[in-house]
Amino acid sequence: MSSYIYDYLDGNAAAGELSKIFAMDVTAAEGQCAHCGAIKRFAEAHLYMQGPGLVARCAVCEHVLLRVVNAGQRVSLDVRGMTYLSLDTSQLQESSR
Ligand SMILES: [Zn+2]
Repeated sequence: MSSYIYDYLDGNAAAGELSKIFAMDVTAAEGQCAHCGAIKRFAEAHLYMQGPGLVARCAVCEHVLLRVVNAGQRVSLDVRGMTYLSLDTSQLQESSR
């Protein structure tokens, strides 16, 4: 379907923005959509960057998974669209070597 108004990018496009918040690479993390229950890597999410921040939507149902809003000195993170986000800590050990 091509009924969406905006073009989206994939979750990898959020790597730069999210690296300001998380010490780990969130695009490699696995998350579950709170709406349809799909479990996918964050990199597979549909990313919309038209607003003052970014919005990541589920690749299956387009439900909002994560929202990052920049407002001056503050970054707000809305993650209620995800049941969980699971990160692989082995990458932390690799980067501290
Ligand atoms: Zn979903």
